[in-house]
Amino acid sequence: MLLALILSTLVCINDSEDKPHVKSKEEYRVYDETTPEQVKDFYRLNHTHQTVDFVLKKEKEYLPLRHKKMGIWEALSIFDTLVDESDPDLGLPQRYHLFQTAEAIRRDGYPRWLILTGLIHDLGKLLTFFGESQWAVVGDTFPVGCAYSERIVFPEYFNANPDKEVPIYQTKYGIYSEGCGLFNVHMSWGHDEYLYQVVKNYLPFEASYIIRYHSFYSAHLHGAYKHLMSEKDKEMLWWLELFRRYDLYSKTEEKIDLDSLIPYYEDLISEFFPSELDW
Ligand code: FE
Ligand code: FE
Repeated sequence: MLLALILSTLVCINDSEDKPHVKSKEEYRVYDETTPEQVKDFYRLNHTHQTVDFVLKKEKEYLPLRHKKMGIWEALSIFDTLVDESDPDLGLPQRYHLFQTAEAIRRDGYPRWLILTGLIHDLGKLLTFFGESQWAVVGDTFPVGCAYSERIVFPEYFNANPDKEVPIYQTKYGIYSEGCGLFNVHMSWGHDEYLYQVVKNYLPFEASYIIRYHSFYSAHLHGAYKHLMSEKDKEMLWWLELFRRYDLYSKTEEKIDLDSLIPYYEDLISEFFPSELDW
């Protein structure tokens, strides 16, 4: 198992047919002056507009879920055309990313619920089809209503956020208290929180937790925000770290044969989900 996990951090990418390039861990999530302009622009918008007020407004707008009724498979089919503008590591439509993630988890012998988590974890990006801008859907998430961690990507972009001028929002605990638990913290609005709300009644707790916090990189990659976490949250970091390896390092520009995978995944989806869910 350990060997499989180590191997899963190295991914082959075909630069050309005869000269495969092995992308190392360090080549993923590079956020510095070499980051593509489109990704920087994305984070400029995201960090400027994700305020406490904005998050509360979106929670009201989408919850309880009332936008659409559809099954998981139908949601997946919409992903044929969506490309994530915040992602420096993948230019393929999102549907490939979901199957790449699930297949990598399946190859390493993890339980069916975790494979399913890989398959669906980004379906919340459907928010873009409800008219949301990408900055309100994708990218890393972070708590609003308390001080921004320096471990969030491009933290300097928060200087343009109106919450920067609200003193209580810039204290360590902000509107929260020590150890209050992430379930009591408002995260920047996006696909994690939205999909969590859609699927939480159908999946094991670990699965819905992974979905809810998989983009909270400052916490699960850099150890930030422990002061807001409950003991349970700290336990769950293990799952977020495990899932990250598959979410991140399974990204390649290689197009896998999706058609051959359909029967297996139809079966997996129907094991956990009804034919229609509220979105
Ligand atoms: Fe995601
Ligand atoms: Fe993902």
